[in-house]
Amino acid sequence: MVDNIKGVVYNIQGYSIDDGPGIRTTVFLKGCPLQCLWCSNPESQQPYPEISHSDSLCNKCGKCVEICELKAVSVDDTGVHIDRKICTNCGRCVEVCAPQALRILGKYMSVEEVFYEVNKDKQYYQVSGGGVTASGGEPLLQPDFVAALFKKCRESEIHTCLETCGFGAKTALDKVLPYTSLVLFDIKHVDSVTHQKLTGKSNEQIFRNLEYIIEKGVPIIIRAPMIPGYNDSDLEITALAQAMVDMKLKKIDLMPYHKYGLGKYKMLDRQYELGDVNKSEAKLEESKAIFKSFGLECDIVK
Ligand code: SF4
Ligand code: SF4
Repeated sequence: MVDNIKGVVYNIQGYSIDDGPGIRTTVFLKGCPLQCLWCSNPESQQPYPEISHSDSLCNKCGKCVEICELKAVSVDDTGVHIDRKICTNCGRCVEVCAPQALRILGKYMSVEEVFYEVNKDKQYYQVSGGGVTASGGEPLLQPDFVAALFKKCRESEIHTCLETCGFGAKTALDKVLPYTSLVLFDIKHVDSVTHQKLTGKSNEQIFRNLEYIIEKGVPIIIRAPMIPGYNDSDLEITALAQAMVDMKLKKIDLMPYHKYGLGKYKMLDRQYELGDVNKSEAKLEESKAIFKSFGLECDIVK
C-alpha cells in the first residue's frame, strides 16, 4: 500500500530551476551515505528528523529546559546547548519555543502527502518542460518511497528526475529506475583513493551503478561539484572528461563551490571540515572549455 510508505523529508522546494529541466519541485530527503567535506546541506546527512538551534533567536525564556524530561537542553549566556548523546529528537522543546530558536529538521511524510504538494505546480511543469526531482541527502536510501512517489508522478504525466550521489544498492536502483525520466548523477572524483578521502567512501560502487543506469537506458546528466584545489585541476578535469567519453555520456553540469551552508553546521553542532576555499569563475570557465574540447555538452549551474 502506497499510503503506508513514509519518507523522511526535510524540504519541498517549488520553482526550482537548477535540479533538472524546466520549472521543478525538488523533494529533499534525509540521509546520505557520503560525508563530502564541502557538504552544504548538513541537515540532509542523518536519516532521521533532528533538532537545530539558532542562538540569535533565543530569548532565554527557559521553557525548553523546563519541558525536556531528559535534561538534554540547557541555556546560558552563550546560547542554547543540546546534549546530542541524550536528546531523542522528540521535538517537545520545539513546540514551546515561541521565537522558533529551536526547530526540528525533517519529518515523516506519506507518498500521498508529498504528491499532494508537488502536484500543485503541475501546470508550471507542463508549460516549462519541468517536473519533480528527488534529491537529498541520497534518495536511493529511501527507494520504496521514491519509487512510489515517482510512479504516482508518472501516472499523472509528471517528469521525474533522480538526483543521486550514486552510492546506493542495485536493488534500490531496480525499484526507482523504472519510474525515472532522468538521472542527475554526481561524480566527485574519478580516483577512488581521493574519492575516499573527500567523501568517506571509495567510488567503485558509484561507477558500477553508473554503468548499470547506462545499460538500463535511462538518460543521464553528470554533475560534478567543483571544489577549488580538491578536484578541479586540469588533470582531474581531463580524467573525468575522458571517463565520460569512454562511457558514451554526453552532458555534464558543473556545480560551483559555495559556502551557503556554513551557518547550518553551528545550528546542528557539527564541524565544517573543509579548509578555506574560494570559488574562481575563471577556473570554472577553463574546466568548461576542457569538457567541451572532448565534445561534451557542459553547463555551469549557478
Ligand atoms: S524555548 Fe526557545 S527561546 Fe526559550 S530558552 Fe529555549 S531555545 Fe531559547
Ligand atoms: S528534542 Fe526532546 S529530548 Fe531533545 S532537547 Fe528537545 S525535548 Fe529534550
